[in-house]
Amino acid sequence: MSAEIICVGTELLLGDILNTNAQFIGRELAMLGIPHYFQTVVGDNRERLKRAIAIASERSQLLIFTGGLGPTPDDLTVETIADFFETPLIEKPEILEDIAHKFAQRGREMAPSNRKQALIPEGADILYNPIGSAPGIIWQPRGDRLTLLTFPGVPAEMKRMWAEIAVPYLREQGWCGQTIYSRTLKFWGISESSLAEKVSHLLELGNPTVAPYANYGEAKLRISARATSEAIARESIVPVEAEIRQIAGLDCYGIDEDTPASAAGRLLRERGQTLAVAESCTGGGLGAMMTEIPGSSDYFWGGIIAYDNRVKQELLGVNPADLERLGAVSDRVAEQMAAGVRSRLGSDWGLSVTGIAGPGGGTETKPVGLVYIGLAQPDGTVEAREFRLGVRRERTWVRRVSIWNAIDWLRRQLTIDR
Ligand code: ATP
Ligand code: MG
Repeated sequence: MSAEIICVGTELLLGDILNTNAQFIGRELAMLGIPHYFQTVVGDNRERLKRAIAIASERSQLLIFTGGLGPTPDDLTVETIADFFETPLIEKPEILEDIAHKFAQRGREMAPSNRKQALIPEGADILYNPIGSAPGIIWQPRGDRLTLLTFPGVPAEMKRMWAEIAVPYLREQGWCGQTIYSRTLKFWGISESSLAEKVSHLLELGNPTVAPYANYGEAKLRISARATSEAIARESIVPVEAEIRQIAGLDCYGIDEDTPASAAGRLLRERGQTLAVAESCTGGGLGAMMTEIPGSSDYFWGGIIAYDNRVKQELLGVNPADLERLGAVSDRVAEQMAAGVRSRLGSDWGLSVTGIAGPGGGTETKPVGLVYIGLAQPDGTVEAREFRLGVRRERTWVRRVSIWNAIDWLRRQLTIDR
């Protein structure tokens, strides 16, 4: 038993959209333990779709389609499938009713073209769509040797139908084997290679496996376990995770969906403390990252984008003589920005960034990528740190890494002081 994903849509071939449906389903199949060796992308074209079905139905037993279930003439997945298996389409009154009901709820009249969505191959079951109009089908056109599932292209609809109907169906059929459960540990402030070196003995493990990877300066270790149930798989990664955390210490800031901002936010909330920021070269990016976290208003008060020196002076109280003598990109100015925003906004913590993001503006002594981060603590102490993020790096990189470094410093301080 193996599955094949067939994504229908010319926009996928043209590269207009990323095939996130295949990514999602691929991950899900891995988690369910259903082998999956092929993926096909085909445009909105009857003949080519038929060819794709012919090939897939010879080598795979479960075909999972996404896209082309809509009411327009270029949505031709279901009719082409029916045509391929030489089966007539029949109109399902219950689908018509469901679509009409959904339109009525939105105060709209059902368009005549939507009638088409009520047509499914004779003998197929309806895979209901709880959100949109297009239903899918579950069909075994050659007895239990071949099963077809169709989903709309819209990711939100596809995911709901997958989780609510397809997964229980696949389990019921007894097709789900071992489950793979993964957890990704995330690190900041350590390179992928030095992390891999520190945990090298764990990279040899068979089950669970530990695999390092990295992007944008962030290192990650993915721990994956294979077992007969998710509970057992979860259990088996516990000691491995504990050992990695022990080795990595403060460099590990979280897991899976965590960001430095969610990690720092959690710690601020636990302590009932608040943060305000003062930003120069990051132009608001620090505040943006902190407020990406739902509920961040509990601990994040706001900030001042002090791009021009006048703003640094007038709104943050930075000493004009220091700006003149040391320049805006200096440890003294970073300290005064952090202390200034903390005292003016009355937050517990103040965090600041000032630096040269490039590509221009660098000098011999102050090259592009030179960044100072200031941290003012609840007890009033203030400190600044220097970072040299490299001349060859682009502006976006310098800005992003500055933001991460700033939040990460705060996160570490909150952890140490706990
Ligand atoms: P609709 O009823 O909206 O027409 P549909 O089932 O016909 O749905 P498509 O027309 O193929 O689906 O795609 C609708 C939208 O869903 C696309 O414009 C695209 O944004 C998204 N989409 C389609 N296929 C994929 C995919 N494989 N990965 C991610 N998004 C997709
Ligand atoms: Mg469509």
